[in-house]
Amino acid sequence: RVRVRFAPSPTGALHIGGVRTALYNYLFARQHGGDLVFRIEDTDTNRFVPGAEEYIIESFKWLGIKFDEGVSFGGNYGPYRQSERRDIYKKYVKQLLDADKAYIAFDTPEELDAKRAEIQNFQYDAHTRMQMRNSLTLDKTEVDRLVAEGNQYVVRFKIEPGETVHVDDIIRGDVRIMSDILDDKVLYKSADELPTYHLANIVDDHLMEISHVIRGEEWLPSAPLHVLLYKAFGWEDTMPRFAHLPLLLKPEGKGKLSKRDGDRLGFPVFPLEWHDPKTGEVSSGYRESGYFPEAVINFLAFLGWNPGTEREIYSLDELAGLFDLSKCSKSGARFDYQKGIWFNHEYILGKSNEEVAELFAPIVREHCPEETMERIVAVVSMMKDRVSFVNELWPLCSFFFVAPDAYDEKTRKKRWKEDSAQAMTELVEVLEGIEDFSVDSQEKIVEEWIQRKEYKLGNIMNAWRLTLVGEGKGPGMFDISAFLGKEETVSRMKRAIG
Ligand code: GLU
Repeated sequence: RVRVRFAPSPTGALHIGGVRTALYNYLFARQHGGDLVFRIEDTDTNRFVPGAEEYIIESFKWLGIKFDEGVSFGGNYGPYRQSERRDIYKKYVKQLLDADKAYIAFDTPEELDAKRAEIQNFQYDAHTRMQMRNSLTLDKTEVDRLVAEGNQYVVRFKIEPGETVHVDDIIRGDVRIMSDILDDKVLYKSADELPTYHLANIVDDHLMEISHVIRGEEWLPSAPLHVLLYKAFGWEDTMPRFAHLPLLLKPEGKGKLSKRDGDRLGFPVFPLEWHDPKTGEVSSGYRESGYFPEAVINFLAFLGWNPGTEREIYSLDELAGLFDLSKCSKSGARFDYQKGIWFNHEYILGKSNEEVAELFAPIVREHCPEETMERIVAVVSMMKDRVSFVNELWPLCSFFFVAPDAYDEKTRKKRWKEDSAQAMTELVEVLEGIEDFSVDSQEKIVEEWIQRKEYKLGNIMNAWRLTLVGEGKGPGMFDISAFLGKEETVSRMKRAIG
């Protein structure tokens, strides 16, 4: 059975790269009829940030990524929060110690620093461990005494040199490294009675019967160690398969995407707005910036994989049907945030006018509390193809709802000619005489008048636009005047003529 997990550490807001990792896990689970587990890896108490766990859960809720089990979702493999699994880890630490696959080390930070100063590129490993204070160099009675006296210690994994470690990676193939370059990683710390990430991660993936570990490339260097841990426990046969996803790169293409890129170029790197409880800093989120969750999902799905077709708009269900983990790219995926904006634009176009109007109405009613839904829908139908976000609508089309209280100086200089006031006065008369104020009927009558008077169409339209809009923007003039109605149109024109 396919069982995958997303296992964040609650050290802050969920980065957009983490969302992509969770999404790929979700797609893989859905497509295989498997389970997606949500595990919280909170054994590093120093880096714990209150609120981060809740933030992560809320982010996925907004995005529509559903977990089958885990923290806040329940399930048969719990508890799913590592800080609640201390006793489980202790048992497995003891198993490794008893099997001579791990050892206890008493070296203080000062002693370790002294060694680092003495030996260049010091690595705690088979070559140096015999010079240190640990259960391999001290008598058993001495070790027992030190522990009994309450001296702080760590448990280190005993990595033997000379072994080629294979990581069978679905995306990268057979990744090999020599065990010599690995150090005897700390698996457990007596100080807080907690395991480190590596041990807890392997024990939990095993106990939770995880079949595939799909995670970011930054964990690839840890994978050989994880393979050795599975072996040390005698769990090779059920070891999960690995897939390390390509890094997300800066929009420029070089280097890893960071929060600073978002600040620099003005795009969010977090799904939701994040209030950092430590620094007080507030970072923007995709939700608050007006993105649709479906657009964010669609955008992220294509960062590192694509279905190989021309089509770009896919729902989450469709993506789950097409996703192919083995076809993910090995090289980093450029975080083209402009493309994210494009996706949002496409999703606006894909929504009905009524749906968009529903989202736009609260903004309109901040200014015009009485505004009807019918009129809001009408404006949306004229304007939605010009925006990528609902919140871009108001500045573009407030003139439909509120008469201009000033006239843009630049436009006025360019477009309001000497005879404009005279022409507009005549046009007011023409308009007042029109019974049927629909677009077509107005258009016919006004154009006849322009021809008869031998006016320049452009000049008339430019001046007219200035009187109704206050500047040189907006859709077709007859669309605007038909929307405003005869009375409002004429009154705006008279006001402009002065
Ligand atoms: N807790 C790790 C993280 O924060 C999980 C890495 C993994 O998936 O093994 O990314």
